Amino acid sequence: MPSHDNDDGWLLRVRGLTKIYGEPISTSVQYTGPKFGSNICPETDAIVACAEIDFDLWPGEVLGVVGESGSGKSTLVQLLYFDNPATSGEVYFNAVDGGTTNILGLSNQRKRWLRNHKMGMVYQNPRDGLNFAFSAGGNIAEKLLMAGNFHVGSIRERASWLLEKTEVPVKRMDATPAAFSGGMQQRVQISKAIANNPPLLFLDEITSGLDVSVQARVLDLIRHLQRELGISMIVVSHDLAVIRMLTDRTMVLKNGRIVEAGLTDQILQDPQHAYTQLLVSSLL
Ligand code: ADP
Ligand code: MG
Repeated sequence: MPSHDNDDGWLLRVRGLTKIYGEPISTSVQYTGPKFGSNICPETDAIVACAEIDFDLWPGEVLGVVGESGSGKSTLVQLLYFDNPATSGEVYFNAVDGGTTNILGLSNQRKRWLRNHKMGMVYQNPRDGLNFAFSAGGNIAEKLLMAGNFHVGSIRERASWLLEKTEVPVKRMDATPAAFSGGMQQRVQISKAIANNPPLLFLDEITSGLDVSVQARVLDLIRHLQRELGISMIVVSHDLAVIRMLTDRTMVLKNGRIVEAGLTDQILQDPQHAYTQLLVSSLL
């Protein structure tokens, strides 16, 4: 791992990213977080799902986000993928104006363009990422069409290639997701998410609903795709075993805040924060 002491070359730069559900007041962020053991504003019941999140992501890097249920992991990737509007903060992406524009302030049209061309998302629940009324191939075609690829022959060819890459039998291209096993549904979701060669992929608990043996094979696939395509990833998981297998660097979230961040190996070997120590000891 390069040390990244320099300030250039990042793919994604996140500063002060905050999401509050409900009615915040000026002290909602101040009076929530790990110090208080809660993300609920004591005055208004607003939920500070995540706050003051700062990090850089580098090209080809796999960044883990780990923490217990409710710590703000899904919210964080939803903000970055524009599934959910941020309350405040800045996000710079080098695929937009060379990284000089806060992408949270883009028009909806430009956000859609960015999602379709430069980002991919794989959700825990395949129903969030796949249209169950379309075939597997139709789902991939939909994503290709959204990026302006209208040539039927090349769409089919690309869909076949993607299914092959994700180890889905190409002959099942015309079956609908409901006809697939959970592991296969995730593979189809991955195909769709990477269809337009995005430099950035978000993965939110993508193996949590799967049997252990199926889990291992899907994680292996992600590792291979990452190596082959060099895609940057943000991997969300409550499971440190997943984080250990996939990521270079890790951020540990608790009550919506980053309590620890660093090289994954170092965090696993020598966790500094009491909460991380607890997570690591539960892995052993
Ligand atoms: P994680 O993915 O780590 O389990 P989430 O990001 O889903 O955590 O949730 C973070 C916090 O935000 C939790 O307290 C959750 O209850 C709350 N939350 C998530 N989505 C909503 C919503 N749509 N409305 C209100 N609160 C929400
Ligand atoms: Mg979640």
